[in-house]
Amino acid sequence: MRLTQHFQLEEFTRSATARRLGIDNTLTPTKAYDRILIGNLQRLCEQVLEPLRQHANSPRHAPSPLEGEPEQLPIHINSGYRCLILNRAVGGSPTSNHISGCAADIRIPDIPTGREWFEWLQAHVPFDELIWERATPTGHPWIHVALRPETNRRRVIPDLVKQ
Ligand SMILES: [Zn+2]
Repeated sequence: MRLTQHFQLEEFTRSATARRLGIDNTLTPTKAYDRILIGNLQRLCEQVLEPLRQHANSPRHAPSPLEGEPEQLPIHINSGYRCLILNRAVGGSPTSNHISGCAADIRIPDIPTGREWFEWLQAHVPFDELIWERATPTGHPWIHVALRPETNRRRVIPDLVKQ
């Protein structure tokens, strides 16, 4: 199922942990509650991820692709929606925005690009949280960004590791 032009629902529900543990992390548009969660993911795509994708592919940042190269740089989602069981399995906070389909963890191509995306997001899109996350103090970071239907706090946690 397509959420917006460049994002599919499956990108937000797939999870290696869910597969490994046999957890059903799918969302079904015919279920009323799942429809609300899908709507949350859609809002996140429309207001945050599509604008970021457009920014990441703007001529200033991405030179025109050569013949035979992929036309556009995708935004890869490491983790999107998490059902309660999956969220517990990955050690997520019990109040995580991932549970309501309001958050996405964005893979960054490299640290300088990730930092640039982080600053761009902070300046240009609505959000509840924007966090520079790492699994370990020296691990490869990713960007956690969340957007709620309302009462967005614009909470920013930048890179806490000084480099
Ligand atoms: Zn996250």
